[in-house]
Amino acid sequence: MALPTDLLDILACPKCKGDLRLTEPGDGLICLACGVVYAIVEDIPIMLIEEAVPLDDWNRGKRPDLR
Ligand SMILES: [Zn+2]
Repeated sequence: MALPTDLLDILACPKCKGDLRLTEPGDGLICLACGVVYAIVEDIPIMLIEEAVPLDDWNRGKRPDLR
């Protein structure tokens, strides 16, 4: 699972408009400024502040429940 890098260039954190970086497995986009992760579900980044997962929780395996 991978996002095109040009898409990554366009995407910005909805909270702070800052740059995002891809998680190592490519399953989320990290905003280091906000300390949150936006999950990527079926190749679509969930760019919603209310669905953002705190980085600590993400690293413990938490994912947004989008079903
Ligand atoms: Zn941010």
